[in-house]
Amino acid sequence: MLMNPIINNYKKARSAVLEQIPRGHLIAAASLAVCLLLMLILTPEREASPIAEPVAIINAMNSTAAIDSPIPTSQNFELPNADALFTPIIEEASSEPTWQEMTIKSGDNLSSMFARAGLNDRDLYELFDGNKNAKDLRSIAPGQKMAILVDKQGKLQELTYFKNVLESLKFTRGTIGFASEAITLKPEVRRSFREGIINSSLFMAGKQAGLPNNLTMELANIFGFDIDFALDIQKGDSFKVMYEEQYLDNKKIGTGAILSASFTNDGKTFSAVRYTTKDGITHYFTPDGKAMNKAFLRMPIEFARISSGFNLNRLHPVLNTIRAHKGTDYAASTGTPIRSTGDGKVILAGRKGGYGNCVIIQHGQGYETLYGHMNNFAKGINTGTRVSQGQVIGYVGQTGLATGPHLHYEFHVNGEVRNPVTVSLPQAIGIAGNEKDHFLATTQALVAQLEDLDHANHLAMTEGNTKSN
Ligand SMILES: [Zn+2]
Repeated sequence: MLMNPIINNYKKARSAVLEQIPRGHLIAAASLAVCLLLMLILTPEREASPIAEPVAIINAMNSTAAIDSPIPTSQNFELPNADALFTPIIEEASSEPTWQEMTIKSGDNLSSMFARAGLNDRDLYELFDGNKNAKDLRSIAPGQKMAILVDKQGKLQELTYFKNVLESLKFTRGTIGFASEAITLKPEVRRSFREGIINSSLFMAGKQAGLPNNLTMELANIFGFDIDFALDIQKGDSFKVMYEEQYLDNKKIGTGAILSASFTNDGKTFSAVRYTTKDGITHYFTPDGKAMNKAFLRMPIEFARISSGFNLNRLHPVLNTIRAHKGTDYAASTGTPIRSTGDGKVILAGRKGGYGNCVIIQHGQGYETLYGHMNNFAKGINTGTRVSQGQVIGYVGQTGLATGPHLHYEFHVNGEVRNPVTVSLPQAIGIAGNEKDHFLATTQALVAQLEDLDHANHLAMTEGNTKSN
């Protein structure tokens, strides 16, 4: 039952949650509107383009009736004739500073962005000169936004770089150089509840219940050690989920983690609650503090094919002699992420003979895992680094003695190699006795709220429900 790769990695699902936040989206959209408006209000005749432009101006004005300025309404506003659009008004218009909202495209760098804004490299040098925040501008990525204010001399006055929906960096020209300010907005976190009954698949039931796809994945990961979602699922199985959502100005900007959940499979209900231990490790536990997960994932790579199994009498493909194959080989293309199968401490991240680039992780209680032939290590993975289950530690390659890109994975128990595919995996350690009170005090409310959700919905259903599943 542990073979289903989808189930094994809730951390990946969690990182997907973060990625789901629409980067730069809302702020950028809002500021785009503001910038556009400013541009139109301040310099209605700025563009030397024909008739299409005034139409846009009128539309913008209609939507800003409340602005206290002598803007003509659409009734008394007359379309300038084409000549007027092309003639001296342009000079007058260029005397006002203009905001430009720009979206970073693939292949852009700051220099190309500046060129598009009509700025030259001198502005770039001035911006970078002695400003330590400016280095962040080297990491601009496609899809992010930037707002640029250019003065009447064509010099950069202000630049705001929207890193994502919550973080931006603002540069303002001062008497000497540019001042910078990092702006971080704090989203409001709200709790959301969903429940569903399975008719065809968990995925469909999640969709019908309005649960974001990545949380459906996370749900499967949380209960994946107890329920095989490929084989055990039955029609009529049900789930309840409480999770976090992030809001900014009353608009949803992202989905957070599942806080508590229950899943009823074939009449048996499993419950889980999220908790961060005093050691700083976040896992899901049963309401009485037992670990939901095994201490190890079965496989360090998702969706990979076993190309060579554990075999102590194997003919070695490179050396062509009988030589024990002390692990399992997973064929995967170069660069495929490799996950640590358990919580632990990296005791080697470096070259190791025929293993090439190799990571060895010590998990305590006599368990160690080894990952060989890596192309490279994940950022931050060094000898001594603490890692958690499912964390990416490196990428598939063919360093050392290897005929093609694959991961060589070994599982050691008390210094002896075991078959990673068949070895029985220990349950992860639950909440320690001395932490139990704190655990219960923290999580009981989350479990109770999930149960209340149940009651509330039953009430709603008897009052003429609209719930379809
Ligand atoms: Zn191997």
